[in-house]
Amino acid sequence: MVILRIDGSIYRANRSYAEMLGYSLEEMGSLHVWDLDARFSKEELKDMLRAVDSDGAHFETQQRRKDGTIIDVELGNNGATYDGDKLIFCIVRDITARKATEEKLRQSEALLRGIASQVPGALYQYRMAPDGSRSFPYFSEGIVALGGLPLEAISGPETDPAMSRILPEDAQRVEAQTRHSAATMANVHVEFRALHADGSIHWIECRSTPQKEADGGILWTGILLDITQRKLAEERVQAMAITDGLTGITNRQELGRLLEKEMARAARYASPLSLIMYDLDHFKRINDRFGHNTGDDVLKTVASLVNANLRSSDMHGRWGGEEFMVLLPQTGLDAASQVAEKLRHEIASHRFDRLGTVTASFGVVELAGRESSRSLVQRVDEALYRAKALGRNRVEAEPAPQQP
Ligand code: GH3
Ligand code: MG
Ligand code: MG
Repeated sequence: MVILRIDGSIYRANRSYAEMLGYSLEEMGSLHVWDLDARFSKEELKDMLRAVDSDGAHFETQQRRKDGTIIDVELGNNGATYDGDKLIFCIVRDITARKATEEKLRQSEALLRGIASQVPGALYQYRMAPDGSRSFPYFSEGIVALGGLPLEAISGPETDPAMSRILPEDAQRVEAQTRHSAATMANVHVEFRALHADGSIHWIECRSTPQKEADGGILWTGILLDITQRKLAEERVQAMAITDGLTGITNRQELGRLLEKEMARAARYASPLSLIMYDLDHFKRINDRFGHNTGDDVLKTVASLVNANLRSSDMHGRWGGEEFMVLLPQTGLDAASQVAEKLRHEIASHRFDRLGTVTASFGVVELAGRESSRSLVQRVDEALYRAKALGRNRVEAEPAPQQP
């Protein structure tokens, strides 16, 4: 504590104040306030002294210790008249440590903001209180670009404005991961679709780490990334991997997988499954006479002609060269033969540019009891071979072998 005269000289200082500034009490007695203040000028200080009244005033300044070092102080001043003199009673508090802490905090906030601004996405914190209530205590600026909503619209104590953007089909998965993480303290890694403010749907990848809080709540700190472009690329690659490049229908590998899947399903539900294989007739001649490109065009046209005449549950793929296959779930041999007959007719009656008509031969089989896919494909191949041998442009159905 220090008591000043209105002229700025020190009337009295207590020992702690003298020690705080590194002076003896005697030395203090000969000093003025401007010998100590390191921020304001003598004139400013004089004005401030005149302005102090009995209501008290608080402000921060810096003072210079005897050894020249500067300390941050907080002053509480009260003017009072004592023995006819107007005196100013000051409580001086050293706030250097507090100031340093504040500065450190400011620096780490600046660091976080700097990092957050460079992250392609948003940093966030998500909290689950002991009573189960949820909140987002923190979102970095990146959330604005990610969701297209202003920061005020999604941050704050309510989770709904942010969580309700997640598509209902994915929300359950996100919630399940959150609960699992809360129960096991495992990291969260989940991908989900969210509605952007512009109405488009974006894929978001979320990674976060949970942390137990003193009150029993859980705080996740993590990152949200927009992975829409990556997802689209993945989908394209995935589609390419199962599609025949020329005709755009299912390729042989995928057809093989679909066949196994449909056979398992047919066995499980004891439902019929039939298979059609067809091969274009004298296709070599078409290539030889009109060129390979025209041959390719014929393959494309045939594939789309057949597609247009199938049910959506049927699966049509290119088995190789100019050989195709159709899987017909829930379909017995007779119905499948009728489908094949219709397809044969559609192809045979189509007028192809330049070359006129093209025909195909068809083999049809129905899956028998515990038959393997190998045996099924071999039987349909045999049926097709028979159709070729019997003159082409025809359908040959192969009845299932007798069960042993
Ligand atoms: P068949 O009536 O007995 O089936 O006679 P084919 O001439 O069609 O005989 P085969 O099935 O053995 O010959 C298939 C021909 O199809 C051989 C090959 O040059 C041609 N081919 C296979 N794949 C393609 C393709 O992707 N494009 C074109 N243009 N031709 C192909
Ligand atoms: Mg052929
Ligand atoms: Mg062939």
